[in-house]
Amino acid sequence: MPETKTSQSLLRNTINFPSFSDLPHENGIDLTYYAQGRYSFSPRQHWCFLGEIVGSYGLGRVLLRAKDKDGQVVTIGLYTDDRGQALVPQIKEGYTVAVLYGEQHGFLDMTVGIRVEEASIIRIIPCSLEQLLKASDDVAARSLNSQSRCCGSCGKKEDTFDNTHLRLCSRCKQASYCGGVCQKKAWVDGHKTDCKALVWAQWFVAKNWGVFNGYFNF
Ligand SMILES: [Zn+2]
Ligand SMILES: [Zn+2]
Repeated sequence: MPETKTSQSLLRNTINFPSFSDLPHENGIDLTYYAQGRYSFSPRQHWCFLGEIVGSYGLGRVLLRAKDKDGQVVTIGLYTDDRGQALVPQIKEGYTVAVLYGEQHGFLDMTVGIRVEEASIIRIIPCSLEQLLKASDDVAARSLNSQSRCCGSCGKKEDTFDNTHLRLCSRCKQASYCGGVCQKKAWVDGHKTDCKALVWAQWFVAKNWGVFNGYFNF
């Protein structure tokens, strides 16, 4: 069997989307992520931690437990003004949590994780980490070969000869269908979640993660 193609899509990149063990440590200066300016260090690129929620504690302060790309489970502590309470309705096991500019932190209870102080750098993405990574692959593949679209439900190819025109999903603009019947079927069969993953994958892809020019926010 041939080796799987490793055309790395954006969210699989381990510099801008690092696992916990690759995040900079809050008590040090990691020169992968920071550059020395005249007076202080500033980020040299953007990065975002991605983890899948495996548990949460919402009493008082919200604490999430999230499993990163390497399978390590870490704590994400909300030290925002509202202690993360605004996030509570969105939290669900199996969803993805994204934290911009996260750094390795040791909590008092001896667990390790990320301490979040700004609400604008954390976001719950309503799909699994696997779905989000897959969506990132799909967006990358779609931008490479735009010519061969086919129906996301029945597989019918676009063909002007027999008048098969595919229409794009108006939300994600990635999936395409030969007609309303196939579109409805695909929605029920799982595009409802994949669609959100694709919208988020495109949010990430639209930004330039390699050059720092001010902080990103969700
Ligand atoms: Zn179809
Ligand atoms: Zn869609």
